[in-house]
Amino acid sequence: MALQQTLASACRVDGIGLHTGAPVRVEVRPAPASRGRVFLCAGGEIPALADYVVETRRCVTLGRGAARVSTVEHLLAALALAGVTNAEIAVDGPELPALDGAAHHWLHAVRAAGICPQDGEVAEYTVTEPCWLEDGDSALLLAPAAALTLYAVLTVPDTAAANMTAGGVVAEVAEEIARARTFGLEREVAALREAGLARGGSLENAVVLTRDGYLNARVWPQEPAWHKVLDLLGDLALLGRPLRGMVVAIRAGHRQHVALARRLREATA
Ligand SMILES: [Zn+2]
Repeated sequence: MALQQTLASACRVDGIGLHTGAPVRVEVRPAPASRGRVFLCAGGEIPALADYVVETRRCVTLGRGAARVSTVEHLLAALALAGVTNAEIAVDGPELPALDGAAHHWLHAVRAAGICPQDGEVAEYTVTEPCWLEDGDSALLLAPAAALTLYAVLTVPDTAAANMTAGGVVAEVAEEIARARTFGLEREVAALREAGLARGGSLENAVVLTRDGYLNARVWPQEPAWHKVLDLLGDLALLGRPLRGMVVAIRAGHRQHVALARRLREATA
């Protein structure tokens, strides 16, 4: 059993929201044992748990009462990779910053602040039997495994990601996961902009898929599929405890990832 962990000191990160383009400042602060990961927003406190997810289109939005915070998944993935189980995350805007479009910037900031063990063990959720969840064209397979193992299968028709898979034992592929940037389709970028979305997106923090290739250079050959693994990791952090098991996500997105986190939370309630 691992010990709970928090940050040794606070870290501050400034940026602009990926979707809203709104400037935002975030401070990730140490928190007492068993506090969990909690967002402190203008309207109040929101625990980073699947119970508080109010929207899963394009990104994950948490809400409680009047408080709202969007695009929480990349920071939550970074905290999961760093093994930070307790943290208070003060946010002064509607959406977390896009930064590098991945989790690497967050992970670097959190590690630079230092990580310290706390009294109290982490209560893991151990997968004991296989289970299969379907939602339209998407599916999630959950199975027992010695360590958290995540795979994502991406099938985006008429693009270079028509058939792409990435993943592995999370502890062994942390770098691939953390550095994989968000992705978009060239044919959708104009429509997103017109809808007032992706305002903080750029060719620096997003990989853009064209019909037969990419508009910009990739960090990894399978970068879009690795980003799906990153999203899966961040969304599964909403379970509120580390997962010991394997998840294979086929054509899945935030909606299905969060549904799985909810189901696992109900199973332990
Ligand atoms: Zn993402």
